[in-house]
Amino acid sequence: MAIFNIKYADNKKILCTQSPKDYSPLTEIECASKEDVAKAFSLARNAQKQWSEVSIEDRISVLEKVAEIISQQKDRIIEVVISETGKPKQEALSMEVYSALDSIVFYCKRAKKWLADETIKLHGPMRFLKKCKVIFKPRGVIGIITPWNGPFILSINPVIQCLLSGNAAIIKPSEVTPMSGRLVEEMFVLAGAPKNLVQVLIGDGEVGEALILNKPDKISFTGSVATGRKVAESCGKLLIPFSLELGGKDAMVVCDDSNIKEAAQGAVMGSCMNAGQYCCGTERIYVTESRYDEFVTETLRITSSLVQSDQEFADVGATFWDKQLDIIDEHVKDAVAKGAKILVGGSKNSKLSGLYYLPTVIVDVDHSMKIMQEETFGPIVCIMKVQNEEEAMRLANDSKYGLNGNIWTQNISKGLKLARSLETGACSINDMAMSYGLNEVPFGGLKESGVGFVNGKEGFRSYCHAMPIVIGKKPSSVYPYTEKSYKQLEQAIKLFFDNKFFRKLFG
Ligand code: NAD
Repeated sequence: MAIFNIKYADNKKILCTQSPKDYSPLTEIECASKEDVAKAFSLARNAQKQWSEVSIEDRISVLEKVAEIISQQKDRIIEVVISETGKPKQEALSMEVYSALDSIVFYCKRAKKWLADETIKLHGPMRFLKKCKVIFKPRGVIGIITPWNGPFILSINPVIQCLLSGNAAIIKPSEVTPMSGRLVEEMFVLAGAPKNLVQVLIGDGEVGEALILNKPDKISFTGSVATGRKVAESCGKLLIPFSLELGGKDAMVVCDDSNIKEAAQGAVMGSCMNAGQYCCGTERIYVTESRYDEFVTETLRITSSLVQSDQEFADVGATFWDKQLDIIDEHVKDAVAKGAKILVGGSKNSKLSGLYYLPTVIVDVDHSMKIMQEETFGPIVCIMKVQNEEEAMRLANDSKYGLNGNIWTQNISKGLKLARSLETGACSINDMAMSYGLNEVPFGGLKESGVGFVNGKEGFRSYCHAMPIVIGKKPSSVYPYTEKSYKQLEQAIKLFFDNKFFRKLFG
């Protein structure tokens, strides 16, 4: 049985969803048609024109009101998210509600500074001839296409940044979790934000495609590598700027000198949080042979104590999509067929009627197995014994993905050295993941894990066009070109670039 289906009635495309907790029917919503998408764009363009003229102080006030509404509506947000995902209540509160509020307060506090005009001190002789400033202009209408694993936060976080910088947003949430995506629009409506500034279009990939064909001024995409590639192709054809936040296969390296109790805690949390459906979840663990037995024993102890249920206060909840549950099952079966050993779990949870995979510890894995190559996205603690740290690092980098990774050692300078050689967008030392929720820093993957950034000053400013404005100090004419003017330029080049002192002075 599938968690969502598309049916047709009266020439309309209807998205029907069910809860992964127990397959209870959730909603039937009409998908946006091509005409609806075009209309949303025309409304958004008008709304954005007016919004771009609203002062930054007033934009911040709107976002602050949204924060108040989210706080007031938190129980409803949690209820909708849980119904569509089967997440434990604690994860719905921390990942979806807390992170959304934190993102609003963070960007509201910095938006004015980050959007202020910057006076640029020019270098070289140009400094005598021109002045320059860079202004940060909103791009216009931003298309935000999002996945199902963090259905509220992954939709609202880019919206917060793009609205503060003067844009309008059109969101296309995942077909698996449409109502959690729709909540974002609802929060802005309840906060009294200008009409049509934030719109949500419900539907599957077709609506995502239509969104791009309407030429937004930027696409912010979060999802799988396969779809990311299609999005990049469509954006490339239309020359639309885009950022891609894609899948991962994060490695954890447990060094000889690590604190095993803490590393095991980190391993289980990194692997099982959000039932493993976390882009920077820990998917591969490399442990040096000197600490392997200890690490496996401790990891097994913690994993075996996790409570999985369909109740509010479980440790590990549901897999949100039947398709993902099949992938997890396939990866585990493939590993076992190739010689891996299950120490706990290793199957769907037969005691629960919904989509639940048991928290699992699997050992004796190697890189011939899908579980070490492809994104599994399940509550699987997957451990491989290695001879030493060099082998661990070599294997950690043996992946087409490069989102995040984590290194466990009590020697921080060694950890920093290893972190630098990890081929990933970010890395943690003695922590389970470089969190998407650290708003201070840019978040983006290497290799097939992404293009561009979200978050941090870099991500925030990517919703703007940084426009230099050059002011001439006095009109300068280079004409006429003569032998004399050529020689003068030659002499100037010699003066400025042949001499170390002048290079330093003017560089
Ligand atoms: P997906 O790629 O299947 O879908 C993502 C979104 O794209 C959905 O809204 C979908 O309807 C839409 N879409 C599908 N086809 C499209 C097309 N041709 N054009 C435009 N849009 C289209 O991904 P998913 O299964 O929803 O999400 C899981 C993936 O997301 C995992 O790989 C996970 O690692 C990744 N993810 C990455 C991050 C990150 O920040 N790097 C965060 C969360 C999830």
